[in-house]
Amino acid sequence: MKKADKLAKIPPYLFMELRKKINKAKADGIDVISLAIGDPVEATPKSIIQELCATAHDPLNHRYPTDEEKGMLAYRREIAQWYATRYGVKLNPENEILGLIGSKEGCHHFIIARVNPDDVVLMTDPGYPAYRASILLGGGIPYNVPILPQNHYLPVFEDIPTDVARKATAMFLNYPNNPTGACATMAFLNRLVEFARAYDIAVCYDNPYSEIVFAGQKRISFLMARGAKEVGIELNSLSKPFNMCGWRLGMACGNPDLIAAISKVKENTDSGIFNPIQFAGIKALQKEAPFIDKMLKTYGTRRELVLQTLKKIGIRFNPPKGTFYLWVPVPKGLTSLEFTNRLFDKTGVVVASGTAYGQYGEGFVRISLTVPDKRLKEAMARIEKEFA
Ligand SMILES: *Cc1c(COP(=O)(O)O)cnc(C)c1O
Repeated sequence: MKKADKLAKIPPYLFMELRKKINKAKADGIDVISLAIGDPVEATPKSIIQELCATAHDPLNHRYPTDEEKGMLAYRREIAQWYATRYGVKLNPENEILGLIGSKEGCHHFIIARVNPDDVVLMTDPGYPAYRASILLGGGIPYNVPILPQNHYLPVFEDIPTDVARKATAMFLNYPNNPTGACATMAFLNRLVEFARAYDIAVCYDNPYSEIVFAGQKRISFLMARGAKEVGIELNSLSKPFNMCGWRLGMACGNPDLIAAISKVKENTDSGIFNPIQFAGIKALQKEAPFIDKMLKTYGTRRELVLQTLKKIGIRFNPPKGTFYLWVPVPKGLTSLEFTNRLFDKTGVVVASGTAYGQYGEGFVRISLTVPDKRLKEAMARIEKEFA
């Protein structure tokens, strides 16, 4: 059957392709270790699971979710508390916070709520592939803003052509950045607000790694910038900090008009989040901040191990301090894809080619630290043996 034209514009989802490749190798009897996907392997903390189980027994929670299109007020209040204590950001749970089925959903609904057909939407290259898909599905035109190592992987607003900025009605940004690991500075965020205000661009600041930072890097929210609430929203998610990717729970915070618009889209799309998952989310935000510190220690150790191994095989670089990814330059003379394939053929280790994130990803691969310690050690041992 014929599909909608806009679907044909969307490249195959990177991880789907990877999964196929991995499955084929596994079927051939190869012991594959995938460092390609960012999805924590350790269990969600017990208190969160217990809260889900306990609240799942209540028949009241078997009906449509409470405050369908916004999320439960108790969940929104807890988010307000979290933003106040973690980032010093004040939010009104009544009209500045929205519960989401993960931040990826928020990206999509943000576009539906804000963008008209043929509006230009800015995103970064390299960038998270779901932004492009959301823009295209919403009928917008993606415009890639390069983010380069010499600029610490931050966009340079002066380099965006004025006619493009004028046509743009929305922009995606994401720091700590997937895939590069780069972090924003407050100076950058203040500049972002000025740029957005000057061109009436709605900012969708996707921040699921706000808690995943290393080596003294400060946790930063876009909403800490002066006037941020006037120009945009921040998406966040329980997926990455609380090992809850499968639970599908996130939030949008900030500009009340955008929040109301996205809420209207949700009201007519998904009818909200299963109550027990929201109760579990409340528990996570109330009780499990120490779990994040524990995971950061784990990721920190893994990060060190990978960096040491890379050094031994002659790859030296100064890694940015955010996310559980390492954005690694490939050896000279090889493209990202050549290196990815060579690595896989020689060691059975899968990494993500930088080019999956855009043309400026050429020359890099992304290594994820969300694998069990034992498997990561095995992967690094194989790499060292083959390439040192
Ligand atoms: C993982 C990830 C998401 C998805 O988060 P969910 O809340 O699980 O939907 C969104 N944006 C970026 C940049 C991510 O890396």
